[in-house]
Amino acid sequence: MIKYNLICENNHEFESWFANSKEFDNLKRKKLLDCIYCSSKKIKKSIMSPMINNLNKNKDKINDVGSLLKNEKKTLLQIREYVEKNFEYVDKNFSQKVKDIYYDNKSNKAIYGTATSKEKRELAEEGIDLLSIPWVNKDN
Ligand SMILES: [Zn+2]
Repeated sequence: MIKYNLICENNHEFESWFANSKEFDNLKRKKLLDCIYCSSKKIKKSIMSPMINNLNKNKDKINDVGSLLKNEKKTLLQIREYVEKNFEYVDKNFSQKVKDIYYDNKSNKAIYGTATSKEKRELAEEGIDLLSIPWVNKDN
């Protein structure tokens, strides 16, 4: 058995076990691999996150990387705050509510919540697009 870190076109990362590296290629060719988060079939092996040597000697570079990381996190937090403020949270009723709004010409309510990959597929079949948001924790 071999474990691969996989990544889909929407940057979802997850791990999966395969009998060998051939099995991965076969499954991918037959389109039997899909993302556990969004069901995308565009999966590739992800490269392990690189580490950097955090030493006093390269302190300037480390500081640069640190502030870039902080900015990235800040942006993601801003997205989260915007969504929380402007969209109504409907939790697991999301799939049903999306349909209600989609078919109600008068409603333009903005909602967010969670959907299983099956629900996402069903919504896509009805022509309803969803946007998945990278959700970051507020603390740390
Ligand atoms: Zn995905």
